[in-house]
Amino acid sequence: MLEGLVGLLLQAEISKAQIEVQDSVDSYYVAKADSATGHVIEVTYDVNSRGEIAGDLEEFRNVVAETLSDSRGWVRANVKFTEVENGGRLHMVLAAPAEVAAASSGCSDKLSCTVKPYVYINDDRWLGGSDSYNELGVTLQNYRRMVINHEVGHFLGHGHVTECETSTGLAPIMLQQSTGLLGCKPNSWPLPNELWVKGI
Ligand SMILES: [Zn+2]
Repeated sequence: MLEGLVGLLLQAEISKAQIEVQDSVDSYYVAKADSATGHVIEVTYDVNSRGEIAGDLEEFRNVVAETLSDSRGWVRANVKFTEVENGGRLHMVLAAPAEVAAASSGCSDKLSCTVKPYVYINDDRWLGGSDSYNELGVTLQNYRRMVINHEVGHFLGHGHVTECETSTGLAPIMLQQSTGLLGCKPNSWPLPNELWVKGI
């Protein structure tokens, strides 16, 4: 238990240090779909569960794969995701709510959470969506795509935003749509001005 905690703290320190180093050495990489460089960032990921989950892990695996390879998604920022059995740079985890809360003091049992290099998708949200989406009749499939893209966005270096896109009224993928749409339209995919990657 203590070992696990130390490991987690150490990991948080390492990723913080990595981000600081990267920021200081001119590696703020902005990728765009129409980038002339054609530079592609390769991200391997593995799929696991944590705690007792009610969701189907194989279904989770399939939706993650579809979402991360979808042409409307982060591939537009020139990121290529490849699933590996284990040892990925990114760990996609379908987690029991208590396990999400235990991952970091910044996480809660009500939401999904990213603690690099782990993306924890909350099993309750995975199965039931969020009130904000359900009230508008948005499909569970689109909720799942949104939450995967949002959390992976954190892995790619994004923080939260709070403004709708001006021209379309869509919610940016990095708006916390699970807790409330702030008057924006629900949206499962990164917007054009969100197609960048930092610190990976
Ligand atoms: Zn978030």
